Amino acid sequence: MTDRNFIKPDYQTEEETKAGNYFVSNYPPFSFWNDNDVPCVSSLVSSPSPGTAPLGLYYHVPFCRKRCHFCYFKVYTDKNSGDVRRYLSATMNELKVYAESPYFKGRKPKFVYFGGGTPSYLSAQQLTELTDQMKSILSWEEAEEVTFECEPGTLSEKKLETIKGFGVTRLSLGVENFNDHILETNGRAHRSKEVFRAYEFARGLGFDNINIDLISGMLEETDENWSDSVDQVIELSPDCVTIYQMEVPFNTGIFKKMKEEGKLNAPVADWPTKRRWVKEAYAKLEASGYTVTSAYTAVKNPKTTKFIYRDRLWAGADMIGLGVSSFGHLGGIHYQNITHIDNYCDIVESNKLPIRRALMTKEDERFIRELILQWKLGRVSQKTFIDKFGISISERFSSILLEWEKKGDLTINGDEFLLTRDALLRVDSLLHGFFLPEHQDARYV
Ligand code: SF4
Repeated sequence: MTDRNFIKPDYQTEEETKAGNYFVSNYPPFSFWNDNDVPCVSSLVSSPSPGTAPLGLYYHVPFCRKRCHFCYFKVYTDKNSGDVRRYLSATMNELKVYAESPYFKGRKPKFVYFGGGTPSYLSAQQLTELTDQMKSILSWEEAEEVTFECEPGTLSEKKLETIKGFGVTRLSLGVENFNDHILETNGRAHRSKEVFRAYEFARGLGFDNINIDLISGMLEETDENWSDSVDQVIELSPDCVTIYQMEVPFNTGIFKKMKEEGKLNAPVADWPTKRRWVKEAYAKLEASGYTVTSAYTAVKNPKTTKFIYRDRLWAGADMIGLGVSSFGHLGGIHYQNITHIDNYCDIVESNKLPIRRALMTKEDERFIRELILQWKLGRVSQKTFIDKFGISISERFSSILLEWEKKGDLTINGDEFLLTRDALLRVDSLLHGFFLPEHQDARYV
């Protein structure tokens, strides 16, 4: 899933790409999640339902055909069909524990997200059986969006028909680049021909929203290649384009090689180059009619193309995280599941929640979490935070906002704070200033 982690303060000014996490995906930092708060999740799910509070469901498929050199997710490339079967069945035990708990009484997910790993690694039959069971345990009839992440090389027309058939509305294709040499060099399993084939099938089937992911700054990326990849995306004309800037966390193949070679800088473009590439991509996308809607996304039609998972999650919605190493958020408690697949299966097979670490957040931490996540949209409404938390952002963070204004990173339009494009492209390096003092020097764990 999109479990991008935390920046250390000293990364903020460095230009070279060093090893470590750059993106801020949640707050407080993971190093503050702990064992002591794990029982809070069980207590919460045994407490009465909060009625209409929005609920989402994240399902983690931890299998991939190959491990990409830049990957830092929990994935397995060596599991046999028996292992996969055991995992799928175990996740249904986990879902039942939640669905039968008082906290979820009368509640149905408003959004469902299949992430990984590679959800499209599963066969059409496995997907049909899995989603039939999921729906019978916790109905999807109120789901406004069902997202499904795909690796293009795993998609056949039949599998896409199945995916459309069980209700996916947002199909996300992990393309990353259109150049076969770059794909090969970065350890991707698919090639560009598979992207075109899968995209054509998907378009023909009429998915509401097709997203294409790109990464700026893959190994051996060049100006020419990047420009060509952006042109190819525009030619395909997906509803949404998501662009990440390459980071090199410690648990990636790239970092392992750096360590072996005794290198401090990652062999990828520096941050100014990666940002320039995204800036150029956004300029081309805008010239083709797209609108930039966050630091990472441009959409063809902002009125109709939504990303409910992101928007609900960033606004504090509850989300059950199912599967090994999944992240969830319930009633203000962050949690993450056990990160080893066999241990995960053993625990859920005994009908217990497989939680590894959790954090019961305080109201002020929830305020900061929502604020830092919403800066990633490039616009923050002062009123939204006054109404929800009773806190004035301009009073609480006057010095940061003044500094941003002075530097030309921020403008104010009525109730809204707006980040300039340059500031938006480095937003993850700007967010640390909002952290509470005790979280300022937190290490990513
Ligand atoms: S396809 Fe995605 S999850 Fe799988 S190894 Fe590559 S980056 Fe990781």
